[in-house]
Amino acid sequence: MSQDFDLFQVPESHELLRSTVRSLAEKEIAPHAAAVDEEARFPQEAFDALAANDLHAVHVAEEYGGVGADALATVIVIEEVARVCGSSSLIPAVNKLGSMPVILSGSEELKRRYLGALARNEGMFSYCLSEPEAGSDAASMKTRAVRDGDHWVLNGAKCWITNAGVSEFYTVMAVTDPEKRSRGISAFVVEKSDPGVSFGPKERKLGIKGSPTRTVNLDNVRIPADRIIGAEGTGFGTAMRTLDHTRVTIAAQAIGIAQGALDHAVDYVRQRHQFGRPIADFQGVQFMLADMGMKLEAARQLTYAAAARSERGDADLTGFGAAAKCFASDAAMEITTDAVQLLGGYGYTRDFPLERMMRDAKITQIYEGTNQIQRIVLSRQLLK
Ligand SMILES: Cc1cc2nc3c(=O)[nH]c(=O)nc-3n(C[C@H](O)[C@H](O)[C@H](O)COP(=O)(O)OP(=O)(O)OC[C@H]3O[C@@H](n4cnc5c(N)ncnc54)[C@H](O)[C@@H]3O)c2cc1C
Repeated sequence: MSQDFDLFQVPESHELLRSTVRSLAEKEIAPHAAAVDEEARFPQEAFDALAANDLHAVHVAEEYGGVGADALATVIVIEEVARVCGSSSLIPAVNKLGSMPVILSGSEELKRRYLGALARNEGMFSYCLSEPEAGSDAASMKTRAVRDGDHWVLNGAKCWITNAGVSEFYTVMAVTDPEKRSRGISAFVVEKSDPGVSFGPKERKLGIKGSPTRTVNLDNVRIPADRIIGAEGTGFGTAMRTLDHTRVTIAAQAIGIAQGALDHAVDYVRQRHQFGRPIADFQGVQFMLADMGMKLEAARQLTYAAAARSERGDADLTGFGAAAKCFASDAAMEITTDAVQLLGGYGYTRDFPLERMMRDAKITQIYEGTNQIQRIVLSRQLLK
């Protein structure tokens, strides 16, 4: 599929997908976005609409019962959902994040069991890497997994876990050999129903309030040995390779939020009159719109170029994924801030969606590695 698209031409099939998701998002997701944010509640309406249309985990391959969307199609789905609701876009995005370790390194048995369950909508997937003392320096994690006969026993706490408590399945990175630092980390599938799994309270966040973020506590969680993802000691590598692919989906979330803000701003400046004419007539406003559109399109092109690399598994995906996530999230922060500005005082109120979009955009500069970390990843590649 990836060979079908080049950097500047999105195939017709993908544009068709975009218009389908856009009309679904406008009809079924947008009307609830403000309430989801205001009440900081899970976007159940969005979840139901996405699941009913097989859009909750589009990346799962057909051989495991999924719809087999390629990386660009997955980006387009996330982008179009984020355009109306940033929180809801984390349903398809985090289902990919959580299940990617299984896709990249899991045994055939794990793939059949868990990707099948995800595709059939028997549960969502979350990704557990971060810990209270191990954020950017994720390899310094303390969560332990100890082999005991035919089982692994996990103890520790994973924090900031998106969709924790709602998801049924969790990929958990844990130390299996403390002497070896990143090479002593392994990945596991943990289920919500495994005895010893519990969740902390919801974090009280600035944005993406509809997406629950909680600590996942692991207290003597005993899981069958075959729930390890790949060989012992390969978990950190799998976790990093996962992020190479999924940073592209965060870039998609960023451009979706930015597109939503730009669309609202364009509508508004056409209608709002000051000094006897629409404010869209003023060159100061036009130049702002031009800069917003320019940054957005540059971010989109870089994101689609990274998606093509994700689909092909190119060697330069690491740099492209980091660049796309970093550039698109910085652009989204600037575009949403300018969109608030273009609405004047109204932009600053909760009667319009712009302030929500600005708050939601901020997280894209922080998670899946902060933008400082993305710049480290990129500069390492350049200096290699
Ligand atoms: C809403 C939300 C959802 C999240 N979802 C998940 C999830 O589902 N799964 C998961 O595992 N994690 C998740 N995270 C965690 C997220 O990935 C981390 O917050 C992020 O990686 C940063 O780690 P930290 O918060 O510990 O910040 P720190 O690492 O403490 O960083 C603090 C500051 O120092 C800077 N800094 C750190 N090291 C360097 C350096 N070497 N050079 C320059 N600057 C540096 C950082 O850029 C940042 O500005 C989520 C976080 C949030 C807020």
